[in-house]
Amino acid sequence: MTRLLAIDHSPISFAAPPPPARAVPNQIECPDCGLILRALSPPPGRRLRCPRCRAVLRRGCPRGAALALPLALAAWPLLPLAFLTPLIHLSLLGRGISAALTTGPALLDAEGWLPLAAVVLLTACLLPGFRLLGLTLVLLGLRLARPPRRLLRPLLRVSEYLRPWAMVEVYLLGFFVAYSKLIDLARVRVELAGYALAALMLVMALIDEVLDPTRLWEEMAPPARGAATSPATALPSPASSRRLIGCLCCGLLCEGAPGARCPRCESRLHARKPQSFGRSLALVLAAGLLYIPANLLPIMTVDYHGQGVPNTILSGVEELATSGMWPLAILVFFASITVPVLKLLGLGVLLASARRGMTGRLVDRARLYRLIDAIGRWSMIDVFMLSILVGVVQLGLLVSVTPGAGAVAFAGVVILTMLASQSFDPRLMWDAAGRQRRRRGRP
Ligand SMILES: [Zn+2]
Ligand SMILES: [Zn+2]
Repeated sequence: MTRLLAIDHSPISFAAPPPPARAVPNQIECPDCGLILRALSPPPGRRLRCPRCRAVLRRGCPRGAALALPLALAAWPLLPLAFLTPLIHLSLLGRGISAALTTGPALLDAEGWLPLAAVVLLTACLLPGFRLLGLTLVLLGLRLARPPRRLLRPLLRVSEYLRPWAMVEVYLLGFFVAYSKLIDLARVRVELAGYALAALMLVMALIDEVLDPTRLWEEMAPPARGAATSPATALPSPASSRRLIGCLCCGLLCEGAPGARCPRCESRLHARKPQSFGRSLALVLAAGLLYIPANLLPIMTVDYHGQGVPNTILSGVEELATSGMWPLAILVFFASITVPVLKLLGLGVLLASARRGMTGRLVDRARLYRLIDAIGRWSMIDVFMLSILVGVVQLGLLVSVTPGAGAVAFAGVVILTMLASQSFDPRLMWDAAGRQRRRRGRP
């Protein structure tokens, strides 16, 4: 008789959860180069930098949380003004129309461009709102006699994660470019939401300037007794233990196994970002492929009295230049053409150098990584400009603007390159260089 089914009676085994990690006081791991440092709070107005890769590790603003709370509360009345009241007014041949921030996404969605509508609505409106809500609740919660830490930790984690995706300032620059294009066609007036957005951008920038997130994390879980608070020196300590892991979310140095939870923010600990190389490479390749249609296909078609003129990113820059708006043409050229190329090539260089274990120019490569990570979001200018033009011009005046497939591809390039730089772990370059040096018998 043939046995068709074999039943395994051996006991089912589950992998045991890693033992809880332990906080290592007064030391941190540099998130850019992996150096273990003795890091103490810098004095007010000073920054603590990594002596090896020059990354800013801490900012000295002891009263940051106290200053940030009134700023965050002041930002709240600006939100409905910025997102719900008219942003721009256009008048032509005796007719006038107004459009709000949400008019563009609504019209884009109505015409079947849901991905573009979603990107604009999320990055310019919803995510800045969520981030502000998270920060306000954290700052208010920490003022309570018994802060509800279990609730505040995920809020701070999400607020910090949303930081690069909340793009009020990039939207404002897109608005400025759209305004400059429209003043050729009609009489244009900036409405209340424009000023509210500018004020909101200023307040959010001030909050980011005064607030050191590490300090908020410390307030959530006060450092161990006897922890020193000055002076601002960073002394390399012997990289003794292989079990030391710096938490990428809150910066706490922990002693424990990968997969354990950080005792301060409860994120999972990983010695390096998981599958960093493969994920960044796949995202860079996908963004590189999308970059071709993003530049070849029109991002919008401007219809002048029944005659459609397709606009690619480059022809939009040329148009600005021929209208004599040179500073704006240079700005859009830099943000929409130079920055994506710089990001793709730069990330390619970083990935290749990490894979080959290059030992030279490590500090320059760390700086290049920080630059790529910081400037990536500014390429969204063209997408925001398009949403404003669609919102204003499609409301029944003589000229009409329709989006093109190039805009979707371009938004995809910006998002994929941002995700690629977030997935890349710059410590891989230092790790690979260290292995290469050891192989060659150098210290
Ligand atoms: Zn460093
Ligand atoms: Zn943590």
